[in-house]
Amino acid sequence: MISVGVNGYGTIGKRVADAVVAQPDMELVGVAKTRPNFEAETAVKNGYPLFAAIEERIEQFDDAGIELAGTVDELVAASDVVVDACPSGIGAENKSLYAEHDTPALYQGGEDADLVDVSFNARSNYDAATGADHVRVVSCNTTGLSRLLAPLESAYGVEKARVTLVRRGGDPGQTGRGPINDILPNPVTLPSHHGPDVNTIFPELDIDTLGMKVPATLMHTHSVNVTLETVPDEADVRELLADESRLFCIKPSMAIDGSGKLKEYAHDVGRPRGDLWENCIWEESISIEGDDLYCFQAIHQESDVVPENIDAIRAVTGVADADESIARTNEAMGMGL
Ligand code: NAD
Repeated sequence: MISVGVNGYGTIGKRVADAVVAQPDMELVGVAKTRPNFEAETAVKNGYPLFAAIEERIEQFDDAGIELAGTVDELVAASDVVVDACPSGIGAENKSLYAEHDTPALYQGGEDADLVDVSFNARSNYDAATGADHVRVVSCNTTGLSRLLAPLESAYGVEKARVTLVRRGGDPGQTGRGPINDILPNPVTLPSHHGPDVNTIFPELDIDTLGMKVPATLMHTHSVNVTLETVPDEADVRELLADESRLFCIKPSMAIDGSGKLKEYAHDVGRPRGDLWENCIWEESISIEGDDLYCFQAIHQESDVVPENIDAIRAVTGVADADESIARTNEAMGMGL
């Protein structure tokens, strides 16, 4: 059993904690939070040992009647691997804590790539993380792009990728980010950070990305154009993508016209929190024009990185190869729509 601690129990951390509990070869040592709130209460109700991320605030948990199992230092000491799911930049501050305990740590996409030994996507570069001490699971958008580009690159070769990312303004719980009634080129300069971030996974890939922010919370949507080195027909591409376990090709007959219905579908099929761990690619949008492949995909920002964190735990501990780990994670979580 791999003992896993989760430091930072918010949008990503709570999902990773649940996914760890679902794995037959992992146990959750506990989760660390900075302050008592509804998530801290839920962690305790779920039976997850709760650790104080900031020692001076222990009293606040006592006052709220929330029982603590210890401090974050103790959580890290008891873990084989720590998943840091703190807000951007806090992971970097926590790095010395993990190093002190010689505990391998996973960070999230909000951290800089140069904080870590390896930036990680299970489908694309699992082996690079074997035995690494500091690994960054790339952001939701970079995860979504890597999963799509990896099979295209190995089947046909990618000459150039151009992607426009229409990004949700904030997550549903991020009331501080909105509402805004606007459409923002974001950033207004090229490229957006996503292209260089994809290059942390595929260093040789020629990719340009543009970003826009819109007043939506449900998902991101990517408009993708990839110039291929050898040109397949559309049916071949559809078959290739349909065979990928973390790509969900939306059939036209489902009449899913956007992220609203995608989320509705996720709730209908009983997905926890309405999560969509897979890239959601509109099958009808997969088109070949000359050497160029086009498609639209929707990415659920709150959850697509969750299975990747689980695979990264196995990668750093060296207990399984990529195929074994991906299969184990998929089965335990119930991947596939
Ligand atoms: P979040 O704000 O929802 O959760 C972060 C949690 O960490 C909060 O509960 C916060 O109170 C807690 N925290 C703050 N300082 C802490 C500390 N010192 N020690 C322990 N806990 C602390 O943030 P999130 O959306 O889960 O993002 C976490 C990371 O995941 C970021 O790097 C982000 O860029 C990345 N990420 C976020 C998304 C997304 O869309 N939400 C998608 C992919 C990756």
